[in-house]
Amino acid sequence: MNYLENLNKEQKEAVLYTEGPLLIFAGAGSGKTRVLTYRVAYLIEEKGVYPTNILAITFTNKAANEMKERVGGLIGNTEGMWISTFHSACVRILRQNIESLKDFKKNFVIFDTKDQETLIKECLKELNLNDKNFPIRGVATEISRAKDMLIGPDKYYDRNMHDIRKRKLADIYSLYQKKLQKNNALDFDDILNKTVELLEQNPDVLQYYRNKFRYILVDEYQDTNFSQYTLIRLLAGEHKNLCVVGDDDQSIYSWRGADIGNILNFEKDFPGAKVIKLEQNYRSTQVILDAANSVIKNNFARKSKKLWTQKSTGRLIIYHYAVDEREEADFIMNEVERVIAEERRDLGDFAILYRTNAQSRVLEEACMSHGLPYRIVGGFKFYERKEVKDIVSYLRVIQNPDEDLSLKRIINIPKRGIGNAALDALTQYAASKADSLFSALLEVDNISRVSPKAKKGIKEFVSIMSELMGIAETEKVSKLVKEVLERTGYLDELEKGEDEESRTRAENIKELLSATFEFEALNENALLPDFLEQIALMSDIDTLEEGKSALVMMTLHSAKGLEYPFVFISGMEEGVFPSQRSYFEANQMEEERRLMYVGITRAMERLYLTAAFERTLYGSTTYNTVSQFIREIPKELLIKV
Ligand code: ATP
Ligand code: MG
Repeated sequence: MNYLENLNKEQKEAVLYTEGPLLIFAGAGSGKTRVLTYRVAYLIEEKGVYPTNILAITFTNKAANEMKERVGGLIGNTEGMWISTFHSACVRILRQNIESLKDFKKNFVIFDTKDQETLIKECLKELNLNDKNFPIRGVATEISRAKDMLIGPDKYYDRNMHDIRKRKLADIYSLYQKKLQKNNALDFDDILNKTVELLEQNPDVLQYYRNKFRYILVDEYQDTNFSQYTLIRLLAGEHKNLCVVGDDDQSIYSWRGADIGNILNFEKDFPGAKVIKLEQNYRSTQVILDAANSVIKNNFARKSKKLWTQKSTGRLIIYHYAVDEREEADFIMNEVERVIAEERRDLGDFAILYRTNAQSRVLEEACMSHGLPYRIVGGFKFYERKEVKDIVSYLRVIQNPDEDLSLKRIINIPKRGIGNAALDALTQYAASKADSLFSALLEVDNISRVSPKAKKGIKEFVSIMSELMGIAETEKVSKLVKEVLERTGYLDELEKGEDEESRTRAENIKELLSATFEFEALNENALLPDFLEQIALMSDIDTLEEGKSALVMMTLHSAKGLEYPFVFISGMEEGVFPSQRSYFEANQMEEERRLMYVGITRAMERLYLTAAFERTLYGSTTYNTVSQFIREIPKELLIKV
């Protein structure tokens, strides 16, 4: 079999060791993801494993698609295997089995962060708490951290009995969960937690998936949180054919509950586990690796590793100290143009990385003034735009009429004469019957406090929605979206508006339509739930289209797992990177340093580091000193320009 020849000795060993727990513990660019891909191919081709017996977990949907493509390239076809993120895999399991949990129905919807905030706002109001003392984002984060640890509202209360503030938080948390359930909705964390709950409470369901997923593979294991870890242990607990790969030096999501301990304790969790280390790096030049090694060795909490390469030494790292952030951006664009002209490189070979999204604005403007096509990962939150979210809310109510949140959003869009008074009366009526808002709409004739005008509007709305629900049963999503736009008069109203704003909105709506076409081209026979799921589970990096050549910009976090010939890391200043917040805790500083390590190791051929003497960010101007991470790189690896 010839494809194994594309692997080195240790990589091959990792592919061939198919039975029992295996940890591949290795530095950046050493071929971890590649090993997983070849392993899937090998299991099927050589070991005769059924594709349906494989579960491969990647960190993003983009990574999943890439892995599918590569496996497809090796063995021809990937049908039946589950290559996906934790979230997508869990949604698939829940779609089949969630009704075993009683509280939820199969047509559940997924709430994004914005929906989550709306729901928390409602909770605060009902509990007479204000968002000064309980800032919405803070509450959301606190709930999310509890969920990462599989701590439900009751347990949260018990643990924090003596803390008045946290007791209140427990009340919010508890009400929040009730509301989710009432809406037949799950937030991101619940997608995982409900799956764990389902498997823990239903031995037969657990057994089914244990038998199904005979071989489990997990990429980027260092960034799993407790609930993901628990899920993996549940699924792999019996046959133990679990292969995880990761790098403790690249753990960068502790703020989202990731626990580096999961990878460091693998051998304890799975006694007898085989450990394979990969040390040869295939991605970067020696100069880049030396820089990465010398930065990361300043961290204490790590297992020592050293990367080497057979590649040439490579060019020195270019360091530019700019007057301000505009000059910094200009330097980058000039350099990109120069390299393209002198070395005939493609625009797509360049990536600009930064610590926070806010830094992208100036870079974006520089791209425009240089006439360089660019793409920003995460900057363009298409599905959060008002008009797009409106239409998506229609789709969500069509799928799941129990969902009050979306229903409230769209009931009077476009205007149908259903004002706040009517909405209050309906909400109260629904609450008195312990039923959803939609069911109150159906009984509107019984509610005397709703004005005749509002009643008329409601009846119109219900009749449109019933028709649309019928259409959703049989028609494709693109057709359904068209019908929503037409029957509700939404597009009409936008097109009547002559202003720029309405035009942009109408364009975005049409873009949503193209998204449905794209979706249908990739997913034959897929219906509304599949489409909504895809949107809900999209992460920033998934919005990065391939194809047309463009300069790519993204945060260091989003760049995990990726590689580019030329990489710029901008904003190399104290207080920017490392970020201000990291000064207060040693752990946090180590995490920033790992982020730097991730950034450096994205570069294949050349690395640029840039800083500015003066920087205006978030509306204020600061004068920062140069980042300690630059000082941690030996001088002989840098040239200052
Ligand atoms: P990261 O830690 O950044 O996720 P990784 O360990 O997953 O990196 P890969 O992305 O799998 O590394 O590999 C890095 C690069 O090296 C890829 O371009 C890959 O194709 C290449 N590569 C890995 N192993 C080999 C090999 N044996 N021969 C040739 N190229 C290889
Ligand atoms: Mg990888």
